Amino acid sequence: MTFEKNTLKILEKALGELEAGFGSLPEFDHSLDLDAVQDVIMQVVHRMQDNYPYFHPLYAGQMLKPPHPMARLAYMLSMWINPNNHALDGGRASSHLEKEAVAELAAMFGWDVFLGHLTGGGTMANLEALWIAGRVKPGQKVVASQQAHYTHQRLSDVLGLPFEAIECDTKGRMDMNALRRILDKGDVGTVVATIGSTGTGSVDPLAQILALRQKYGFRLHADAAYGGYFVLADNTAPETRAAYDRLHEVDSLVVDPHKHGLQPYGCGCILFRDPAVGSYYNHDSPYTYFSSSELHLGEISLECSRPGASAVALWATQKLLPMTRDGAFAQSLASCRRAAMALHGKLSADERFRPLFAPELDIVVFTPRGDRISEISRRSEELFRTAARHDLHLATFTYPCRLLDATWSDVDMDAETVTAIRVCLMKPEHEAWLDRIWAIMDETATALSF
Ligand SMILES: *Cc1c(COP(=O)(O)O)cnc(C)c1O
Repeated sequence: MTFEKNTLKILEKALGELEAGFGSLPEFDHSLDLDAVQDVIMQVVHRMQDNYPYFHPLYAGQMLKPPHPMARLAYMLSMWINPNNHALDGGRASSHLEKEAVAELAAMFGWDVFLGHLTGGGTMANLEALWIAGRVKPGQKVVASQQAHYTHQRLSDVLGLPFEAIECDTKGRMDMNALRRILDKGDVGTVVATIGSTGTGSVDPLAQILALRQKYGFRLHADAAYGGYFVLADNTAPETRAAYDRLHEVDSLVVDPHKHGLQPYGCGCILFRDPAVGSYYNHDSPYTYFSSSELHLGEISLECSRPGASAVALWATQKLLPMTRDGAFAQSLASCRRAAMALHGKLSADERFRPLFAPELDIVVFTPRGDRISEISRRSEELFRTAARHDLHLATFTYPCRLLDATWSDVDMDAETVTAIRVCLMKPEHEAWLDRIWAIMDETATALSF
């Protein structure tokens, strides 16, 4: 295989154009010892060869999606300016691009009025959401499902807020009876709904959580770091769609452009439905009320220095691939989901395998069959290792046996957790590569005589 390198020609041309904009400045010396640079970069090359091929369609393990060449090009171009979006002074043009790009993200969720900005990633974005939640509901408990990202428990700890994990149903979603039981105790300030769990892509039943908010009055945060963009996909199941259709009713929302939005790492986003939460940020601004047209990025962000390049890359990507429901970007998400459904179909029809449940997004979790949990877990590990030797990179995932559904009643539950295989079909190429991926899984299972 080869890397995409044609964009480098555009980069050179674009840099010539960019420097022309500063042409009136006196020249300064930027001569370099190019031999020394080349020596070092070749050392870097050899070190970087020690990676799994995250960029290749046969990598379907962890949540790693390569940036779009457009994003990579815009990010690289920005490096010659290296803007800092902490404040307008440090990142003039890129701050404006960030506001426009973030407004487009908010619009994707149906928000014209909002407060929001980019962050270093989903963790920082969730920290900001929970920090505001703690200001609005001081001292009260944060709850999230047991399959929510572990960051919520840890961030609650950082913020000094009590945290409790809510039991899940057999599809890895927050169990509504368990939530109601905890709400009845009366000390819950914030519920975190996971819209696409990191492990299995499960979507918490948002409509039912919203109904409970009516009764209990908690703050509702949606962690859509992984699944947020699927609001654009037209082929989610009705139950999943029902959650996305009400996503605009939450109080805050996190989405990670560096997960499904084709961006290089270092690009998360926090959005608040009510711009008035800007008043909780301690700052020297004379403003006490913020709206999208008034926001000053440095005044409404916990992080200070942030890469303006991330905003430039996101803006450029969204310009090339607008986030509309009928656009190419939405279609590529729908294609990831089709790939997941097709793989689930193949696994369900094959007596050697057993999927945990039908995928809600583009993540498929399954195990090889076996009589005992310990045997199944061992087979998952073998499949994972052997497939990697045939260039197919999957991931393993530990799942609690108490969440397995009735179809597992024939299995001897000799352990509390089962090791499953997790396949993230999040690349635009995955649908076209599914037969290749399946062929390797099939051969591997045959070789291991499952
Ligand atoms: C990835 C992820 C996070 C953490 O985000 P980072 O960008 O890795 O910091 C939080 N929540 C969910 C649901 C995620 O998938």
